[in-house]
Amino acid sequence: MSTVVDAIDSIRASLPQGVGLVAVSKFHPAEAITEAYGAGQRAFGESRVQELLAKAAVLPGDIQWHFIGHLQTNKVRRLIEARLNLLIESVDSLRLLDAIDAAAAQAGVVARVLVEAHVAQEETKSGFEPAELLDYFARGGYRSLRATHLCGLMGMASNTDDEARISADFAALAALKRSIEASAPDLVGFDHLSMGMSDDYPLAIAAGATLVRIGTAIFGPREY
Ligand SMILES: *Cc1c(COP(=O)(O)O)cnc(C)c1O
Repeated sequence: MSTVVDAIDSIRASLPQGVGLVAVSKFHPAEAITEAYGAGQRAFGESRVQELLAKAAVLPGDIQWHFIGHLQTNKVRRLIEARLNLLIESVDSLRLLDAIDAAAAQAGVVARVLVEAHVAQEETKSGFEPAELLDYFARGGYRSLRATHLCGLMGMASNTDDEARISADFAALAALKRSIEASAPDLVGFDHLSMGMSDDYPLAIAAGATLVRIGTAIFGPREY
């Protein structure tokens, strides 16, 4: 068996029921995805529009693509118009959310998205400030979306070896999701909590993740 298949099998076996695996295939070739697909994996994470579309063009149509990188508003239409089975996990501004909603409405599709929150200590990481998100939901901003389904929250923990800090970040994301749901009682289907990567996903699961995004532990190191 290949190392990719071995890794997929053992990670899957370790995930509790209700936790989905996104295999982060960014910077790895389509052949690596094909190997994982052969092991039954269907959800793959990509961080660049062009790379995602190129792979989708040559890979099976039942793959669920997860966009996890910074999405520029000028690339939104191309992504939406490809009509893929797609979850955009990294919506980090209202401007981007509006662009996605407009493109989806125009294409006659429903865009499925997660909003990304910034709780990590690094300023460089992207995402909404929690207060900004809470304000958006509390004032019902989502009610004006025409063609977008808000499917939940995504986030990353601080880049540190300090497990207490990482767990605190994941707990903060879980609490933020609960606060959003409490402040927006008519919001339906805000179910996902996407958090946890190769080095920290067990802590994310302990804190309530429903999706983990794992790249290196499946495909090995990336060559940028
Ligand atoms: C690259 C990336 C991952 C996967 O990271 P690994 O450490 O390789 O598992 C997960 N989430 C996001 C947002 C990423 O950009």
